[in-house]
Amino acid sequence: MNERRPAVFMDRDGTLSHEVGYVNHPSRLRLYPWTVEAVRMINRAGRLAIVVTNQAGVARGYFPESVFDEVQRRLRDEVAAGGARFDAVYACLHHPTVGRSPYRRECDCRKPRPGMLRRAEDELHVDLSRSWVIGDRHGDLQLAWNVGARGALVKSGYGRGELEYLAPSWSRPADLVAENLLEAVERILAREGA
Ligand SMILES: [Mg+2]
Ligand SMILES: [Zn+2]
Repeated sequence: MNERRPAVFMDRDGTLSHEVGYVNHPSRLRLYPWTVEAVRMINRAGRLAIVVTNQAGVARGYFPESVFDEVQRRLRDEVAAGGARFDAVYACLHHPTVGRSPYRRECDCRKPRPGMLRRAEDELHVDLSRSWVIGDRHGDLQLAWNVGARGALVKSGYGRGELEYLAPSWSRPADLVAENLLEAVERILAREGA
């Protein structure tokens, strides 16, 4: 039997790349300067590096799925150019009430619903109980908690605003708060003894 491995799940916009609104053209994807190093650290620690992103702009008709594919290719290429790699990239292109078929539907993968993490659990033998989700929004933390993982909030993207104005009313605080993805990864790996 394959041994299950812990993963670090990462949100895309506001966590790996600048939050610029809808990335409706590949040229709008801009990685943070620390992103490649952070992913490389996860790789070297023997943890799975997995992207989980909601891209309802497809359901909304703001850009075609082919543009999303091209953006993801660019993301993978830029990370690979720095000697790092993602083990998987999962995306929810759906919206429950807006847009057109086949993207308009109640799905199980729109964060904070756990579908993408469950897929990773099955396909990549992830041990969710030893995994983390890093993101810039409360929904990323809820995603983690919905599967018994831990959630780290980064202050990039929407994170600073979520932390200052919304977090005081959350029923559960983030398991870790970090300036950015690199600091989050460093502290997670230190905590987990990697
Ligand atoms: Mg985000
Ligand atoms: Zn979905």
